[in-house]
Amino acid sequence: MVYFAEHHTAGRHFLQIPGPSNVPDRVLRALDNPTMDHRGPDFGKLGARVLEKTKKIFNTESHVIIYPASGTGAWEAALVNTLSPGDKVLMCETGWFAHLWEEMAGRLGLLTELLKTDWRRGADVEGIEARLRADKNHEIKAVAVVHNETSTGATSRINEVRRAIDAAGHPALLLVDTISSLGSVDYRHDEWGVDVTVSGSQKGLMLPPGLSFNAVSAKALKASETAKLTRSFWDWKPMIASNATGYFPYTPATNMLYALDTALDMLFEEGLDNVFARHDRHGEATRRAVRAWGLEVQCEDPRHYSPVLTAVRLPEGHSANALRATILKKFNMSLGNGLGQLNDRVFRIGHLGDFGDLQLVGTLGGVEMGLAAAGIPHKPGLAAAMQYLNGNG
Ligand SMILES: *Cc1c(COP(=O)(O)O)cnc(C)c1O
Repeated sequence: MVYFAEHHTAGRHFLQIPGPSNVPDRVLRALDNPTMDHRGPDFGKLGARVLEKTKKIFNTESHVIIYPASGTGAWEAALVNTLSPGDKVLMCETGWFAHLWEEMAGRLGLLTELLKTDWRRGADVEGIEARLRADKNHEIKAVAVVHNETSTGATSRINEVRRAIDAAGHPALLLVDTISSLGSVDYRHDEWGVDVTVSGSQKGLMLPPGLSFNAVSAKALKASETAKLTRSFWDWKPMIASNATGYFPYTPATNMLYALDTALDMLFEEGLDNVFARHDRHGEATRRAVRAWGLEVQCEDPRHYSPVLTAVRLPEGHSANALRATILKKFNMSLGNGLGQLNDRVFRIGHLGDFGDLQLVGTLGGVEMGLAAAGIPHKPGLAAAMQYLNGNG
């Protein structure tokens, strides 16, 4: 049942939007503990443990800042801690989330330059390299990329972006949004030389919304010493100072830290490689169902297929929003809507977080029944997904 639903619908609600994802019961039980004194002696132990564990998911030895905020707050933190008014930022418009980040940068007083895509692939690595090579005076201070573009289902190759920046011999900072990829897709903050990694709690980390993160490189930390954009709540400096003993400069989201502690344990118990392989497998099974239905996957480049979600295009003349409404009403399942220019053109199937084979089969079964109920021409597709899940791909 959905909290606050007016009428009870039998059976569990299927929350198959690409975040917030389903929160495992074990994490819900962890949330449901008494809030403790965040200045008391026990808190420091919890804080230190959680901060240390969180580094492992970013693959970093450096600082990870935890904010009591949604991902949007951590976007802002990445910009205001490292940049000054009028600084130029090169951004890659992979889809709606990249667009929102660019708008925010503009509102904060940064000069943004956008490398466009057709919203059907990841970041244009050659374009980044060419633009940086042309920037002889190093006016571009940062390159900002969304790792997993949640509006289109395209995952950019951050290692290739790093190589492009190095090949151009350019000193720009690399800022990466992993809000919908961290905990679902392999990610290496240190190895890929990322300066600020932005993330959030409610997608691959299997938590409710409410926490967000900045993983910070030594180079980013150095940039923060001279960065002139106004910052107060988001300032890394008092955070890092308090975090040294496991505490926070203002009240942290205490119960969410219990939940983070537990969710990270669960990911490490399963093994990160297994978690990533599970997401890859569910992505592939979903795409096979989509193709068998005779529909089109929004992402056109197989190298950028997202393990987190699949955006599905409907044939001309059919409404993705009407389909989603039918599926919600008849089958009690929420699917993601099309964002920006994709509104009503695509629907998005989330296959991330705490998610198993039978949940995927249920999800794809709900979509297939919904296509029939909404009168959208299609062929059977669920069997193709099941065959693949059975190892008979
Ligand atoms: C969800 C999401 C955001 C926005 O995060 P909020 O927690 O809603 O502020 C930003 N970027 C990406 C890639 C996302 O998936």
